[in-house]
Amino acid sequence: MNDKQETIGYVNKIIPFSNVDGEGNRMAIFLQGCNYNCLYCHNPETINRCVNCGECVPVCEYEALSMVDGKVQYDIDKCVNCDACIATCKKNSSPKITKITASELMKKIEKVKFFISGITVSGGECTLQRDFLKELFTKVKSLGLTTFIDTNGSTPIYMDKELLEVTDKTMIDLKAFHPEENKILTGLTNETVIKNIRELGKLDKIYEIRTVVVPEVLNNNYTVDMGSKLLAEINPNIQYKLIKYRPMGVRKELLETTVPTNDYMKELESIARANGCINTIIV
Ligand code: SF4
Ligand code: SF4
Repeated sequence: MNDKQETIGYVNKIIPFSNVDGEGNRMAIFLQGCNYNCLYCHNPETINRCVNCGECVPVCEYEALSMVDGKVQYDIDKCVNCDACIATCKKNSSPKITKITASELMKKIEKVKFFISGITVSGGECTLQRDFLKELFTKVKSLGLTTFIDTNGSTPIYMDKELLEVTDKTMIDLKAFHPEENKILTGLTNETVIKNIRELGKLDKIYEIRTVVVPEVLNNNYTVDMGSKLLAEINPNIQYKLIKYRPMGVRKELLETTVPTNDYMKELESIARANGCINTIIV
């Protein structure tokens, strides 16, 4: 397959070395576009594709943005990452998107392959770019590196045998256990999330499940109670990560929300452990 036949991936950001995106030292690749619209989204500029309205172009003082034939052009070499463009965008998007094929991205991965154990592709919601993901993972596996998907779990990954063949592990958000609460929080119910957790857990394809704890907004006790019971039933060794809500980068609606106390996080951890999740951690 040559470059012309390859799928174009829309990449928001690449972090060459990360030790918080799965096992070991990993390259973290964030794809643009998400089907959730979480109340507490920490990077809302990853939600939508740019519609080329051009409003952010004059905001850039460094001439990194321009309009050519009605489309925003981004010059990464001139960009100083001040994010003034992102602050201007009213469409939950970013002009700083790189369109890239798996072969092109592999050139960046090959440069650091001796320093990483694998790559983690996140988002946005990376599984919305499933073909690009599969092409990239197929190539990455040939280097002997591991491949992780960081996902909101809303697409039926468990049914995608081709993708799973080249995916080592998934990291799945369990944002709320009750489907209606999940809908209020994200815009979608969570039946597919639960099915993914159940089926991918049976296939030993889960590295961790994560729940963000937001006091006064979510029924955290219910989600942790039900979620940990589900995990314990599938495999008590699956890592269950309880994440303290922090109001960095979120939209104004939630800025005033209380940050959970350490005592409350420990109370939730105790619930999960009592339910049999022996690998529960707080971050
Ligand atoms: S990033 Fe936002 S503001 Fe800039 S052109 Fe695209 S949609 Fe318009
Ligand atoms: S982040 Fe880059 S492209 Fe955006 S305004 Fe700043 S310099 Fe310009």
